[in-house]
Amino acid sequence: MPNPCPASPERTFGVLGHPVSHSMSPLLHSRALAQNGVRGAYTAWDTPPDALAAFMEAFRETPYAGASVTIPHKEAVIPFLDGMTDTAKTIGAVNTLFWENGKLLGHNTDMEGFLTPLSGLDAPDDALVLGAGGAARAVLAGLSSLGVPHVTITARGLAKAEKLAADYAASFTSISVLPWEKRLSVEPGAAFWVINTTPVGMRGKAEGESPLPERWFAARAPERRLAYDLVYNPLETAFLALARAAGWQSRDGLDMFVAQAAAQFRLWTGLEMDAPRARALLTRHLAP
Ligand code: NAP
Repeated sequence: MPNPCPASPERTFGVLGHPVSHSMSPLLHSRALAQNGVRGAYTAWDTPPDALAAFMEAFRETPYAGASVTIPHKEAVIPFLDGMTDTAKTIGAVNTLFWENGKLLGHNTDMEGFLTPLSGLDAPDDALVLGAGGAARAVLAGLSSLGVPHVTITARGLAKAEKLAADYAASFTSISVLPWEKRLSVEPGAAFWVINTTPVGMRGKAEGESPLPERWFAARAPERRLAYDLVYNPLETAFLALARAAGWQSRDGLDMFVAQAAAQFRLWTGLEMDAPRARALLTRHLAP
């Protein structure tokens, strides 16, 4: 017979976005809830922009226990919150909703997600960030927290890159913007990271393409050089394959994805997600 008075009520979490059918968050968080014995469920809330206000009203009334927030709501959700953490304010976007003392707050775990796979490495002298969208903001916040002095942003939309550089001007010794067509002219410093925050290479978008060609990597010595791709589907992107073939160190986007989810899970439950197990689960899921 079911227990009529459970020790704790069932809590509902989910991912808020549009579209969200491709999201791996339900798989990851549902498994983590079950593995940790948490009475709860994690679902997907496909919410078009014109339905966001109504959804947020329902979120409070229900109330739901927490949410991951993804495209296109990472900034749009901010007016519906009671406050934001300092990290979310710095990045200017929210990827996590959580409750604290009855207040609905926004946080951003992408910076922590970005930094986790880099732990133990010495920060480089300079970094090149490819792309100037939402993920680039979290990457810049992460690079700044590591004390990387010099950063270059290259992006198709120059105005967006310039706005990003202006927003982060105080965070670096120097931050410059390079037109996308001129990106091959970047001459890496002795210790250098290049980070792809564009969707180039992503399954279904520009799969098989790399934002930097083979000759760019091959002509530059690999020592103390690292390529980091935020794209995680496929796991082995052309960008990473070229960097590895040239002897560069590399990081793929899956460890970042797991780490940002683990940070959300910790915030909601106080518990740890088993990151290696989560990565293995997603790797099986992504396998062609
Ligand atoms: P976003 O806000 O749409 O920004 C994408 C950036 O890439 C923009 O600067 C965009 O330029 C540029 N771009 C798009 N297509 C391009 C192309 N064909 N060539 C050159 N530049 C191009 O997206 P986002 O939220 O930053 O996400 C970017 C990528 O990071 C996605 O692949 C996403 O899946 C990944 N991501 C991964 C994680 C993780 O945990 N691993 C976390 C967050 C994001 P325009 O403005 O000119 O379009």
